[in-house]
Amino acid sequence: MIEVAPGVLVATHAFCATTTTVVVGADGRECLIVDPGVTSVEIDTLATELASRGLTVTGAFSTHPHWDHLLWRPSLGDAPRWATAHGAQRAEAVEDENARKAEGSLPGVDTSGLGRVSPLAPGVTVLPWAARSIRVLEHRAHAVGHAALLVEDAGVLVAGDMLSDVEPPLLDLDATDPWGDYAEAIAMFTAVAREVSLVVPGHGEVGDHDELVRRIMADRLYLDSLRTGASTDPRLVGAADWLRAEHDAAVARFRT
Ligand SMILES: [Zn+2]
Repeated sequence: MIEVAPGVLVATHAFCATTTTVVVGADGRECLIVDPGVTSVEIDTLATELASRGLTVTGAFSTHPHWDHLLWRPSLGDAPRWATAHGAQRAEAVEDENARKAEGSLPGVDTSGLGRVSPLAPGVTVLPWAARSIRVLEHRAHAVGHAALLVEDAGVLVAGDMLSDVEPPLLDLDATDPWGDYAEAIAMFTAVAREVSLVVPGHGEVGDHDELVRRIMADRLYLDSLRTGASTDPRLVGAADWLRAEHDAAVARFRT
């Protein structure tokens, strides 16, 4: 784990450049873990490292109800694992589907935690974790019940599957208005950007404030390009087959 800002640690995993974020409480003894990933060995190693730093996991957050953001292991303990109300509802509804996708993507991954998250009160904007002030920024882009977290005193935005340097925007094509939902989320990130000095995407590299602004602009451009079908987004160059398929499906849906 690398300390990217005071009391904010990030580990990056080989599978899809997935990140795990740990927020240390103001007392230096508690921590909150966001989207722990990915393999059992990695999560157990993380648990050992947290213990060796004298940290107890007293809270956890799942940014959105996709399998790779709902993982858990007994080694992390039994702290409350929160998600937004919509996110928790969806996680429960698609638990079997998520387990199949997890096993198909990463055979042997521990799927025992996929349906076990506790819903926050609907519309809540502050995480009920007393150790440090963390804002919940809920939106509907990419997945229903998705939320980013803003560690307020450090200006760190933990973005989940948004604002990545390696994956272009992935729209929730099952939603009623995927394009509008995504545009709305980008507008929300634009509105908080001045408070952010570091962005931690769920997949990819941590970026500074300027990089956040660059990613916001790139994502807006990508969204517009879905309507012309002529994206020149560098994140599509050499993209994995599944990413290319998602892109093609989005173009087919939104091309005008
Ligand atoms: Zn996702």
